[in-house]
Amino acid sequence: MSRHDEILSELGLAPTWQRRARQGLDRGPDVQVAPVPPLVAAVTAAASPEARTARIAALEWRDFAADVDVCVACGLSRTRKKTVPGVGDTRAEWLFIGEAPGAEEDARGEPFVGQAGKLLDNMLAALGMSRGKSVYIANVLKCRPPGNRTPEPGEVDACRPYLDRQIALIAPKVIVALGKSAATTLLGIDATIGSLRGRVHRYGGLPLVVTYHPAYLLRNLPDKAKAWEDLLLARRTLRRAASPAAEEP
Ligand code: URA
Repeated sequence: MSRHDEILSELGLAPTWQRRARQGLDRGPDVQVAPVPPLVAAVTAAASPEARTARIAALEWRDFAADVDVCVACGLSRTRKKTVPGVGDTRAEWLFIGEAPGAEEDARGEPFVGQAGKLLDNMLAALGMSRGKSVYIANVLKCRPPGNRTPEPGEVDACRPYLDRQIALIAPKVIVALGKSAATTLLGIDATIGSLRGRVHRYGGLPLVVTYHPAYLLRNLPDKAKAWEDLLLARRTLRRAASPAAEEP
């Protein structure tokens, strides 16, 4: 069954019948084939939140980005240029999560490609890593909030099933929340970044370490040393998760 048929079936709209071109005859110019993406988008928009969440929870990587591309679950779909699903190794041990795409990410469809992204790449390089090599980078929101405003709760709720599906598919050993917005959203608490750093939290049963957002670090260079400590904590956490016995005395 095709992905299109699966969605229709899930919503009780299947089976559908399509007229086949008669053998030996060319399809006439009056035969119209409906483009799939708008239909998928319309069906997706019409689904109940529960049906939508269940559908996203069953997505495989091959369909993931295309599904995000046609998402119209919140108003950001009207102002985005491109969706920004995420980038990297789909079986990564490290998952970095930021807040939401900015202007450059919106234009290119990839997270953390601006100045903040360059700093993130340098931080990864300092750990001997790079995006795509045991690292996956995503945002809480897959679309840019206009003017880079803080995500609204309704937008976070609408996008959460995609993030949760990414986490389930990747099954990372450690999550690093980049900045207060991502950290407090994921942890469901209102707290300062200072109070969240330096210890290991959990999201969906996985260890989560909080650090500064790279854009903040660009404006506050001395705090880079603290971010480095956070990354070392994340690396210790990951190593402990990978081989618990090795850490025992
Ligand atoms: N800031 C974020 O939180 N995410 C991006 O992708 C870019 C900037």
